[in-house]
Amino acid sequence: MTPDTRVNQLQKRQEINVLGQMMNMELTVNSLIDHAARYHGDAEIVSIGTDGNPSRSDWATVSERSRQLASALRTAGYVQGDRCATICWNNVGHLECYLGISGGGMVCHTINPRLFPEQLVYVINNAQDKVIFFDKTFLPIVSNIRDRLETVEKFVLMSEPDEEIAVQFPGLLFYEEFLQRGTPNANWPEIAENQASSLCYTSGTTGNPKGVLYSHRSTVLHALVAAQPDALNLSARDVVMPVVPMFHVNAWGVPYITAMVGAKLVLPGPGLDGQSLVKLIDSESVTIALGVPTIWQGLLSALDELGSSAQSLKRTVIGGSACPPSMMSEFRGKYGVEVVHAWGMTETSPIGTVNALLSKHNTLSEEGRNKIRESQGRPPYGVQLKIVGEDGHQLPEDGIAQGNLRIRGHWVVADYFGVEPNQTLEEDGWFETGDVASINDDGFMTIRDRSKDIIKSGGEWISTVELEGIAMGHSAINEAAVVAASHDKWDERPILLAVKIPDANITEEELLAHYQGKVAKWQIPDRAIFVEGLPRNATGKVLKNKLRSEYGEVLVNKPAS
Ligand code: ADP
Repeated sequence: MTPDTRVNQLQKRQEINVLGQMMNMELTVNSLIDHAARYHGDAEIVSIGTDGNPSRSDWATVSERSRQLASALRTAGYVQGDRCATICWNNVGHLECYLGISGGGMVCHTINPRLFPEQLVYVINNAQDKVIFFDKTFLPIVSNIRDRLETVEKFVLMSEPDEEIAVQFPGLLFYEEFLQRGTPNANWPEIAENQASSLCYTSGTTGNPKGVLYSHRSTVLHALVAAQPDALNLSARDVVMPVVPMFHVNAWGVPYITAMVGAKLVLPGPGLDGQSLVKLIDSESVTIALGVPTIWQGLLSALDELGSSAQSLKRTVIGGSACPPSMMSEFRGKYGVEVVHAWGMTETSPIGTVNALLSKHNTLSEEGRNKIRESQGRPPYGVQLKIVGEDGHQLPEDGIAQGNLRIRGHWVVADYFGVEPNQTLEEDGWFETGDVASINDDGFMTIRDRSKDIIKSGGEWISTVELEGIAMGHSAINEAAVVAASHDKWDERPILLAVKIPDANITEEELLAHYQGKVAKWQIPDRAIFVEGLPRNATGKVLKNKLRSEYGEVLVNKPAS
């Protein structure tokens, strides 16, 4: 169809169109908190402070205080669209900032404190943040970069006034005092659903971090779909603990989703070690917890050490990197905890896929079902996926073909923040994820690798994700990363960098023998090298480029395998 005939057809359709006659209400973040306050006002928000002490609030109080914060920001002269940043742990003050800033029409820019100082300065200046709300833990970081921040007018420490700190940091404001400048329960302003609500930067493993500017509409639609039974399956009867930080893709949307469904929320603060989490799960009867695989590794060891069976815990949602199959079976087999494997990115709000079985899988053996659970799952309504070859043509969804994963949907980035329009998407209007995946005929998607990490050995692709999962399944191994090493004959061969569990006794030969029968022989790594730890970026992902530059030449001049 030529563009002209398409325009004609659209015009014709408009002429004969009969418009629906339903109310049109804007999908905004403040509508979420209003709902929570009215219908789930007494559902608790438990929060661990920076001092490690718990406090208790509820949705009604959070609503009242977030309205007051929006009003305090207005009183201070801030207007809709102004960026207000947070550098905070998962705690109730951060939740009030989330809802108060966005609800007030400003943009809540959540900052990852683990970024390098140069990156912190970059993202704050790039976002043109006017206010920074931050936890006491990050006082040294903020003091250190303060002079280089070009647009920040107010620094607000998330605490009661403190004379001693005020002296160290001239001009510092204190949250509780700042809040008092606003009217409690002030009215929300009118907000259009396509206005920006929050801003999050990717961790920028290579190059500068890139900003993703979410809208009220994308946030609410994401929350609506994420709450569904075949997605995160959250309800008013759940006690939800996001261990994934609120500075990482809005804690996967949990603050908004829990407000929407009125769940009790448990915010674990800075103590993300296994023991602290187990104690919190047991004392608050957490039913569902969400986080990246490394967090759950600590939790599983702590369950053992403390002799807890995590009685209340029904589900863990695991994403951010591939969940090792051994972790899934330990959760399910030993503790009866279902593992929901999910995939997404900062650019996708983040939910792209979630793994939920279909009724036809009921007839499969437990082993067959587990195999399906290992994949990253299927897109919920509102997201579409496809895989394409190097030239952009679509590849078959047969579970075998591997290609570059592209996505589009209601909560997928269209343009990066501050970048010229129309630079972010591919020609076909889809977003290229940078992941290599396969998709089967039921739509289950399996991440094979980041496209820059996949190993090309003698023209064949080897998935590092799969090899890492197998290494992690060995009882002596705590962490594993597989990277490409240059090879005279095969161009690239996989090598395994592994961290042993303390006091484990295992040799390189024994670890490599563990691969026998689990993958084709030519996919088995050429070397297993034991290391003390793996380098990780600000979101906890292994820095494979660093490993490649350190170990990438270990096979050169070695005889062909
Ligand atoms: P960053 O800030 O590092 O970009 P993101 O959370 O946006 O952080 O990273 C997204 C990437 O993380 C995805 O493109 C994918 O490579 C990886 N990822 C996320 N979830 C999974 C998963 N379940 N399995 C494998 N890889 C995953």
